[in-house]
Amino acid sequence: MKKKVLITGGAGFIGSHTYINLVSAGYTAVILDNLSNSNPCILDRLESITNTKPELIIGNINDAALLEETFSKHNFSAVIHFAGLKAVGESVEKPLDYYNNNISGTLCLLSAMQKAKVKTLIFSSSATVYGNAESSPLKENHPRSATSPYGRSKLIVENILEDLSFSDPTWNIACLRYFNPVGAHPSGLIGEDPKGTPNNLMPYIAQVAVGRRSSLSVFGGDYNTPDGTCRRDYIHVVDLAEGHVAALNYYNSNSGLITVNLGTGSGVSVLQVIEKFEEASGVKINYSITSRRSGDVAECWADPTLAKQRLGWVARRSIEDMCKDTWNWQSKNPTGLSDQQ
Ligand code: NAD
Ligand code: UDP
Repeated sequence: MKKKVLITGGAGFIGSHTYINLVSAGYTAVILDNLSNSNPCILDRLESITNTKPELIIGNINDAALLEETFSKHNFSAVIHFAGLKAVGESVEKPLDYYNNNISGTLCLLSAMQKAKVKTLIFSSSATVYGNAESSPLKENHPRSATSPYGRSKLIVENILEDLSFSDPTWNIACLRYFNPVGAHPSGLIGEDPKGTPNNLMPYIAQVAVGRRSSLSVFGGDYNTPDGTCRRDYIHVVDLAEGHVAALNYYNSNSGLITVNLGTGSGVSVLQVIEKFEEASGVKINYSITSRRSGDVAECWADPTLAKQRLGWVARRSIEDMCKDTWNWQSKNPTGLSDQQ
């Protein structure tokens, strides 16, 4: 019988891509999402790609009664937990929303899992837990710190999961620290679809390219880097999706808690991303270099060795693939999924 997985936040960017890889790896999956940052028409898109329409439960991970009902109805072997809020700037404005969704929500989910004796969890952590790291590559044992309520919410959940694992070693918990997820499914049917003004570089460039925005601000050209702009570890969302399947499969023959980076291991500058995007799209990106964005570090990329050793996973897709697939998605869906309802 196929193993069944609950994907919280599965209607979102990374969760929807992961659904596809789970289905092709032989799992069945149920999505629980409150649609606060996603669109239900993603289900039809996922059906077109996988030939199976995902079951969607519309609801909040903070709803204990709904979770209890969901776990009693389905025989889940594991949970992949993407649900949460993710905008760093917004988290400074609305810290309680972030702690409520990301920390209380996770506690509510963990209690429901414990009650239902479902003790395998893959958690979406982030490179943000490395704080203002001074040098890269970053290994998992690098000291952690938080520079925003969003980052603190990830750090606190990591701490909670460590305490839980220590108290009860029968829990299997993988904390996956993503670096900079970008790109889209090569079909162009699903991709990153931010509501409002994008906070992140790649969707912003894509919206300039498609004519939704007039110009990109490059935040700072005077960093101590080869071209003066910040370098990041951009990772294709399909590689990331594969990383989740690798983490689930890891627990076929292992147990306990692991924390691993999911990144490529190399840094790409803002100007390099613009150049690669122009090559992929054939569109000139209008940009100007403006002042630094507060809180940005000059360089941040992963040491992905542990993910290879423990999960047998490596990122295979290049920055060219990331730009090509982002453009394919954005040019086929200039306004995202917003006009599909
Ligand atoms: P996303 O916003 O596209 O997806 C998150 C989904 O969770 C959305 O569909 C949203 O509607 C849902 N959601 C939010 N709060 C919920 C709640 N309380 N109950 C039920 N559903 C809820 O974001 P994403 O980029 O796919 O990120 C997924 C996870 O990965 C998040 O936890 C995020 O913090 C983490 N992460 C993302 C990045 C990134 O750059 N995208 C980097 C590192 C970590
Ligand atoms: N960036 C930029 N203009 C934008 C958005 C981002 O120059 O409109 C830069 C940002 O300063 C950082 C890099 O692009 O150096 C990646 O930023 P993003 O917000 O995508 O990810 P982060 O690494 O901050 O999580």
